[in-house]
Amino acid sequence: MKEQEFTKDLLYWYNKNKRDLPWRKQATSYYVWISEIMLQQTRVEAVKPYFLRFIQELPTLFDLANASDDVLHKLWQGLGYYNRVKNMKKCAQICVEKYQGNLPSTYQELLELPGIGPYTAGAIASIAFDKKVVAIDGNVLRVFSRILCLEDDILKNSTKKKFQAIIETYLPDEDCGDFNQALMELGAMICIPNGAPLCNICPVQKYCKGYKEGKAHLLPIKTIKKGRRQEDKTIVLIVSNHQVVLHKRKEGLLQGLYEYTTFSKKMSEAELKRELMIDYHIEKIQPLPEAKHVFSHVEWHMQGYLVEVEAFQKEDLTSTKQQLETIYAIPTAFKEYTKVCLSYLK
Ligand code: SF4
Repeated sequence: MKEQEFTKDLLYWYNKNKRDLPWRKQATSYYVWISEIMLQQTRVEAVKPYFLRFIQELPTLFDLANASDDVLHKLWQGLGYYNRVKNMKKCAQICVEKYQGNLPSTYQELLELPGIGPYTAGAIASIAFDKKVVAIDGNVLRVFSRILCLEDDILKNSTKKKFQAIIETYLPDEDCGDFNQALMELGAMICIPNGAPLCNICPVQKYCKGYKEGKAHLLPIKTIKKGRRQEDKTIVLIVSNHQVVLHKRKEGLLQGLYEYTTFSKKMSEAELKRELMIDYHIEKIQPLPEAKHVFSHVEWHMQGYLVEVEAFQKEDLTSTKQQLETIYAIPTAFKEYTKVCLSYLK
């Protein structure tokens, strides 16, 4: 049967070519879970140091369940989507209570935990527990769109269901974890995105309808996302005596993380001066370059200032350079201003 031959060739290629990744050395459910959540945020190379730091600081699910939010946010700083790490903590607490500090082994039980969707449940169940389930993400949908030359919109749920039923017929009886990882590896190394698959060196080229019909580079089909909302902000580094004022975000996007003094509109130097004069004796205001950060549904357009003041307010939370580097998690959205801040604080 064609599906079985495809799977055999894919697994043969994977076993000879798979990358040596830290979470593959010992594929425990905890490690698979952490790595899969991190890999949803960024590239493999970028995830490696985050993963190693995370398991060193929090080696078990018990440690994660008991970790403070500040420690978690610091370990996650730069990865974005902080709700994911908040859900990981909730999930770890449930596992401590309900599953003796382990992740459950079945797809259905995993799916009931916070922050674990069909893809992650499939990845953990198959890779760590050798269950016969698929793990389908955008990479796998891209690969199969090309292999089967299907022009369905891969962002639609109906397409995902259709693909799931098809991919299940390719699952081997054993080594489903390897099969899922092999598909991901193929998507990452050979059948890469943005119209540039490396068909000449592809181990499953002979099964690929998209390649035969010369359409691989045009697939997959995705609907164009709706435009994002734009929010203007003014970011102010209020500094004095090698320290900067910070605030903990109480609600909304990035809740629980730290930020510099922020106003929800763009302000001129004179406007800002009027605002800050109420609380501070200002010594110097220096405008900083504008910056932009793109989230999935909103874009922040930021105007920045460095403001030197004579003294802080008694109730201000202030941070030294070292505390900024080790304790307080500042979202990547502010990275341009964090760079300025770190070089100023010395
Ligand atoms: Fe992807 Fe090309 Fe391989 Fe088909 S032949 S799976 S399009 S890399």
